[in-house]
Amino acid sequence: FFIALEGGDGSGKTTQVETLAEWIRGKGHEVVVTKEPGATPVGKRLRSILLDVSSAGLSHRSEALLYAADRAEHVDTVVRPALERGAIVISDRYIDSSVAYQGAGRDLSPTEIARISRWATAGLVPHLTVLLDIAPGTARERFTEAPDRLESEPPEFHDKVRSGFLTLAAADPARYLVVDAAQEPEAVTTAVRHRLDQVLPL
Ligand code: ATP
Ligand code: C5P
Ligand code: MG
Repeated sequence: FFIALEGGDGSGKTTQVETLAEWIRGKGHEVVVTKEPGATPVGKRLRSILLDVSSAGLSHRSEALLYAADRAEHVDTVVRPALERGAIVISDRYIDSSVAYQGAGRDLSPTEIARISRWATAGLVPHLTVLLDIAPGTARERFTEAPDRLESEPPEFHDKVRSGFLTLAAADPARYLVVDAAQEPEAVTTAVRHRLDQVLPL
């Protein structure tokens, strides 16, 4: 069973992934927590290229392909092997982040970005995608570290990213759970657990 957590910068993905993994492990499942970009040795190198402020001016198409390369490596070496042995995989970001950031955010075609991602993953789609939705300005107040290259983008960029995520979720409500991520972390966790109780293979 494959779960993706998606949402803008500072929406609470990394916080929720860990809490949810502990809860599912408590039910006796093997859980693999992973992330994009940068879950594999090659992915870590791609991540540093992608996020370093010195990559300002990176061509939008090359940026999209570097994320796709990170994802291909991630799926081939981490996600599929774990799913094949029956583990529950929780990924902190997946395809939707590319459609939202490189597609909606950069004004490349979201449909084309989705197509590249489909090829990169050989069609691996999550069983459930949790979208942590929050106004970018509210999320920004949570940042404690220096902004990376993407976090330095203007507010309009992050507004387009948020809309990109919401458009994806609206198109496939059966596969998405949209949670108001401005709530307390405990309330977000409760909403996700409620949905997982209905869909997890137990
Ligand atoms: P990024 O996209 O930058 O990796 P993220 O979505 O993984 O961000 P977190 O790192 O989980 O977000 O959270 C960002 C910050 O906000 C952290 O300091 C975290 O402790 C805090 N935080 C997480 N969830 C909430 C919440 N529901 N309410 C308030 N603060 C939160
Ligand atoms: O979630 P995490 O903090 O690891 O993401 C790192 C950075 O990569 C974030 O600033 C995010 O905006 C950016 N990103 C992106 N496109 C993706 C995935 C992440 O621009 N497909
Ligand atoms: Mg995070």
